[in-house]
Amino acid sequence: MATLEINDLHVSVETESGPSEILRGVDLTVKQGETHAIMGPNGSGKSTLAYSLAGHPKYTVTGGSVRLDGEDVLEMSVDERARAGVFLAMQYPVEVPGVSVSNFLRTAATAIRGEAPKLRTWVKEVKEAMERLKIDPAFAERNVNEGFSGGEKKRHEILQLELLRPRIAILDETDSGLDVDALRVVSEGVNRVRESGEVGTMLITHYTRILRYITPDHVHVFAHGRIAESGGPELADKLESEGYESYVKGGA
Ligand code: ADP
Ligand code: MG
Ligand code: MG
Repeated sequence: MATLEINDLHVSVETESGPSEILRGVDLTVKQGETHAIMGPNGSGKSTLAYSLAGHPKYTVTGGSVRLDGEDVLEMSVDERARAGVFLAMQYPVEVPGVSVSNFLRTAATAIRGEAPKLRTWVKEVKEAMERLKIDPAFAERNVNEGFSGGEKKRHEILQLELLRPRIAILDETDSGLDVDALRVVSEGVNRVRESGEVGTMLITHYTRILRYITPDHVHVFAHGRIAESGGPELADKLESEGYESYVKGGA
């Protein structure tokens, strides 16, 4: 069982007035097969955690460690992280001109598996995954992220999750106004890969509503750049009724 272990992680981001510490000692362990909801107020550092784990160059790790089965993730390049099985949905958030969804997915699968999937079985795999997600076949021929709606971005994200089958998946809901349809797509995808028991999921979100569709094993409240409280699904119920106010007030 793969285990991602985050220990006392400190991360700074470069701003106009110099480096600013965003993550202030994050401790979190995610095992393959587990679903963790990372919740918290806007600006608490949730997306910074996701970017840092993916190796985004804008975020500087100033302390702590991240290990996957004992291997130092922070030493790995972005590609090496992907090959090791750490998947961040927004690793490729930009438009990729002239690259279709279908080609993009095959390239990603090749990078992760170490060899190109056989074309015939691959086409079948993609087709089946798209059918499960009720994605129109024409979607595969569109260029990545070009004019994608919020819902289509989520579909693409979940399609990657299903086809690439990472060991640790980091899904940042990015707190955009996901419609009910997109929520459903994300939830179904997460629940399906969850059944495989192969994927450890970090579901990052500001809103509790996705937790009506996904029951996490663990819930963590992020505040001021660290985990302020951890619990089971009941913690999400508490957040739903009480909000984040008590966490925002405490600490600096
Ligand atoms: P969340 O995802 O919880 O809403 P973020 O990680 O996006 O929080 O942001 C946490 C804090 O870090 C915010 O104050 C935000 O302004 C700051 N921050 C994050 N990324 C950057 C960046 N690239 N440049 C400057 N400030 C940033
Ligand atoms: Mg935010
Ligand atoms: Mg965010």
